[in-house]
Amino acid sequence: MIILKIGGSILTKKDAPESEVDSVNLKRIALEIKKSLDNSSKELVIVHGAGSFGHPPAKKYKIGQSFDKDEYPQKRIGFCEIQNAVKKLNMLICEEFISHGLPVIAVPASSFITANSKRITDGNLDIFKKYLSKGFIPIIYGDVVLDEDLEFCVISGDQIIQYLASNLNPSKVVLGTDVDGVYNKNPKTHDDAVFYERFSSIEDLDALEGTTNIDVTGGMVGKIKELLYLADLGIESKIINAEIENNIYKVLENDDVKGTVISRSK
Ligand code: ADP
Repeated sequence: MIILKIGGSILTKKDAPESEVDSVNLKRIALEIKKSLDNSSKELVIVHGAGSFGHPPAKKYKIGQSFDKDEYPQKRIGFCEIQNAVKKLNMLICEEFISHGLPVIAVPASSFITANSKRITDGNLDIFKKYLSKGFIPIIYGDVVLDEDLEFCVISGDQIIQYLASNLNPSKVVLGTDVDGVYNKNPKTHDDAVFYERFSSIEDLDALEGTTNIDVTGGMVGKIKELLYLADLGIESKIINAEIENNIYKVLENDDVKGTVISRSK
């Protein structure tokens, strides 16, 4: 089984003032996945980020920070607003995938996952196995969930990847983002950034910069931390550039694609 994450940086226009899908990337990626599945059947789980749909309301309502009792109703409506915003993005993604014949079925984290201090603690994945066994492609995304300690929190697509991969025993974990992989510093702001083909320690980063966009879920550093946790369990993952045409197709076909393998062994 393959777990494929498609970053919010690919599927949404992160800098846009209004939530906007990147429909060119979305269609291209749907077609790449379809082409690979037409070649040979594969068990596939898709995770996507919330991008420009989730981050503005999450920031506005400061979900994930502690608050006074009298703020509860306002936080709760914020939680609803975020859940609805990311659901909208997921609906647009599913609509496109289904129109190309991809049998995606949404399994929103907010409907079955709970957390404690922003870390997923519970979430029964039997439904994933059931849908997979019937040939569906379960699709899950960065979302809000109930938090035992903080009442509410946001969980990133990257944390979901870590949770799914830890529990579903995938043969491959791939994350598509808008850069070729991990560098010693942000390649979008540093021309001299050095690319890593393999990455095994957070200390290999020069500066712990987040992303080009201030991102409530932690951007590249957050991503790497989740993937190093997986590496500790012996599960390798690979970050690739999903903006480059056919990269997603090639990675699904086991062809060589430039990217960074996150693993504890060098
Ligand atoms: P996604 O939405 O695809 O999950 P993010 O936008 O959260 O991805 O993170 C990817 C971004 O992280 C890249 O666009 C890049 O600018 C930024 N970034 C920051 N530091 C690094 C680094 N050391 N190596 C690679 N990318 C980095």
